[in-house]
Amino acid sequence: MHNGDVSFWWRQRGLLPRRPSLPASTDADVCIVGAGYTGLWAAYYLKRADPGLRVVVLEAAFAGFGASGRNGGWVTAALPGSRSKYAKGPRGADGVRALEQALRDTVDEVGRVCKDEGIEAGYVKGGVLNVACSPAQAARLNARLDRDRAWGDGEDVVSYLNQDQLAQRMNVADAAGALYSPHCARVQPAKLAAGLAEAAVKAGVELFEATTVTAIAAGQVSTPFGAVRARYVLRCTEGFTGRLPGLRRKLLPMNSAMIVTEPLSDAIWDQIGWGGCELLGDEAHAYMYAQRTADGRIALGGRGIPYRYASGLDDRGAVAPATVAQLTDILHTMFPATASAGLAHAWCGVLGVPRDWCASVTLDPATGLGFAGGYSGHGVAASNLAGRTLADLVRGERSELVTLPWVGHRWQAWEPEPLRWAGVHSLYTLYRAADRLETRSGKPATSPLARVGDLISGIPH
Ligand SMILES: Cc1cc2nc3c(=O)[nH]c(=O)nc-3n(C[C@H](O)[C@H](O)[C@H](O)COP(=O)(O)OP(=O)(O)OC[C@H]3O[C@@H](n4cnc5c(N)ncnc54)[C@H](O)[C@@H]3O)c2cc1C
Repeated sequence: MHNGDVSFWWRQRGLLPRRPSLPASTDADVCIVGAGYTGLWAAYYLKRADPGLRVVVLEAAFAGFGASGRNGGWVTAALPGSRSKYAKGPRGADGVRALEQALRDTVDEVGRVCKDEGIEAGYVKGGVLNVACSPAQAARLNARLDRDRAWGDGEDVVSYLNQDQLAQRMNVADAAGALYSPHCARVQPAKLAAGLAEAAVKAGVELFEATTVTAIAAGQVSTPFGAVRARYVLRCTEGFTGRLPGLRRKLLPMNSAMIVTEPLSDAIWDQIGWGGCELLGDEAHAYMYAQRTADGRIALGGRGIPYRYASGLDDRGAVAPATVAQLTDILHTMFPATASAGLAHAWCGVLGVPRDWCASVTLDPATGLGFAGGYSGHGVAASNLAGRTLADLVRGERSELVTLPWVGHRWQAWEPEPLRWAGVHSLYTLYRAADRLETRSGKPATSPLARVGDLISGIPH
């Protein structure tokens, strides 16, 4: 089994020859730091809207090296954060509904661009299933459905499937029921990142790789190869943000780890079902997420080691054996038919989590400094919407997008160390213990341990 090497997705796609570094100091209209989905979408839409703009993207490694080339491939309309927190913005609850509708439209927009630009990322819009694997998970699922209905989500947004209805789509051991939403698509993440980078370059974006930005200031971005002077500077570094000077406590680099099986035999797929390419998640506190890949594997992820001291990062994505064992156990428990299937690869990456778990898209017109991120694990579709929104903000467009409640949303800083480390590790220790207790006890009530975890984290529901 491969471990690390960035991700299975990149190994399957094949790494591209590295693009050149920034050759020398230069001027641009917009300089974007980071070539993940956020930076690439922002650059792509800026150039498409105004081909006369000079847009320079600086990337420390290569386009799609970060979470964008390592994720679970859920192009999901899930809100990155809490409705009640976004509802405190000037547009109130209507603004939240507008943001949720914009995210649903974004799932289709990603598919449209893939089609128009010939990006073969295995995009299939099969929806998403959230299964309940214990009575406590079933109770949370029902509570979630009640909240969604109270916000006005109808059957077209989310519906309940009982055990039999779920079994018509997929056989998950011990699943009592599921929520189904059609607003989610599957992609091969690295193929999306690679195709998007090519589309941006084709549109005229100047993308420099192996160029680490060492400092960002109004009007100027510094690198070891020279500076880029630009009226607008957009920081699109999500989970890596803490490496930049002065930004260590801005976004917590939360780890997420994945495993992928070898292609499964037809006999195994006959037992599992899963013919509709739905994305799959559960209702555990330390939740799992999975996809059936285009070539008939299961790729499954979960939290792993949640956080490294002092916002540390593990660049190449190597996963601890204990995490591989945890994820394999989830795979075998949910799908006993996979017990004899081999694992092909394990890897991990970091996503950016703000202190209130709500994403932000911000541009200060006075300084020209902007950023987007903090999607808290829901960044694949959200980064497209954020990129389009940054493009509108830079161009001074008074579009609907720039009125959405995450625009200009402000965060508190994370606690200094060792509090940050202790807080995140206690949180996930409590959540894992709560998950074990809930499964063993078979009681429908959420474990009190999880409630303590929610209090520590302030994770919104
Ligand atoms: C394992 C995993 C699974 C996930 N699964 C899902 C999922 O299924 N669905 C979903 O919606 N979200 C998922 N996410 C989250 C999602 O992938 C991210 O939110 C999203 O990709 C963030 O994109 P980004 O462009 O903002 O950041 P990134 O993709 O992390 O890109 C940031 C880029 O900035 C570069 N960079 C950093 N510092 C510098 C610097 N100083 N100079 C120059 N460049 C720099 C990095 O090299 C990197 O390429 C997952 C994340 C992980 C890690």
